[in-house]
Amino acid sequence: MDKKKIYIKTFGCAQNTADSERIKTYYWEKGYEEINNWKEADLVVINTCIIRESAENRAYGLINNVGLVKKKGKKIKLIVTGCLSGLADKDKSGKKIRELKRKFPVVDKFLPIEKISFKIDPLRDKRKAALIPISVGCNNYCSYCIVPFARGKEISRSFEKIIKEAIRVKELGFKEVVLVGQNVNSYGSDIVLKGKTKLKPIMVKSMGKGRIPTLFPYLLEEVAKQGFEKVSFVSSNPWDFSDELIEVIARNKNIDRLLHLPIQSGDDEVLKKMNRGYTVKEYLNLVKRIKKKIKGARLSTDIIIGFPGEDKAAFERSIEVYKKADFEIAYLNKYSARKGTVSAKTMKDEISRAEKKRRWWILEELIN
Ligand code: SF4
Repeated sequence: MDKKKIYIKTFGCAQNTADSERIKTYYWEKGYEEINNWKEADLVVINTCIIRESAENRAYGLINNVGLVKKKGKKIKLIVTGCLSGLADKDKSGKKIRELKRKFPVVDKFLPIEKISFKIDPLRDKRKAALIPISVGCNNYCSYCIVPFARGKEISRSFEKIIKEAIRVKELGFKEVVLVGQNVNSYGSDIVLKGKTKLKPIMVKSMGKGRIPTLFPYLLEEVAKQGFEKVSFVSSNPWDFSDELIEVIARNKNIDRLLHLPIQSGDDEVLKKMNRGYTVKEYLNLVKRIKKKIKGARLSTDIIIGFPGEDKAAFERSIEVYKKADFEIAYLNKYSARKGTVSAKTMKDEISRAEKKRRWWILEELIN
């Protein structure tokens, strides 16, 4: 008998990629084989990202295309998971899931990703680096970001299980590993607060809540000790980047020297409106400490262009900051208001598309 066919489309970040690997395994165990053409699939799974308008629209486009083919009589089961389903699932009033079902009647199931257990040993894509999720969710509420609403509060996986997974991927022959989380370097706060560790927590400056404990430097060092050629982590945040973390990276040569440190804006007023937990001075100080202690450290970053309040002077100031930080790569995103976030509710998206594009080009030329 022919195997049933599954097509999985993943939008968004490394976390979604890691989730898709577990989804793929789940269906592989049920006898499905993965294919690259959704038109020939029995089951289409769309793993959505709604952090930016463009990614959300591309997911809608695919849902609609599958819908058109289904209407013509092709039997395809369509499952939508990821942030879009998460957002609906976390809305206890049930309004959001009703809205989604009304808007997309072609979708057979909106699946919260939490239903795909971490107990699944994922079939990893055949590339050099194995992705290991270490936490899900985020407690930070940056004013533009939908993640805390779609993924919920930050929950850390058990330290021991992560190390076991690292040992397993090493045995499988992976030379590189990437630790993945929405806010990777606050890993373990919940474990400490529940009293479930004997490790001495490392305190970091958290956003608006004083200081919080983390275990990330211990975890990173333990993974590095397993002997991988390269260990990386995404995405970290400046306020959780402790001196202990810098020291761990400095003394473990196999930890990637290209560090991702999202700045988002180079202007204090804009950072405040974004509810980011640092000033430009604090950020540049951190960069200085990193570069001083970690030989060969290079930085990549995320920048939002045209956030409300980023007038021309603020943009000019930001350029100067980006020059000082000397980024090797910047992931540039033009601001788009995401429904349900603080910035969408309280701030006007006042900068024109043309101006955002102009600024995008300036930064692209300057950094990338
Ligand atoms: S730290 Fe901010 S930008 Fe990152 S996931 Fe959390 S809320 Fe979103």
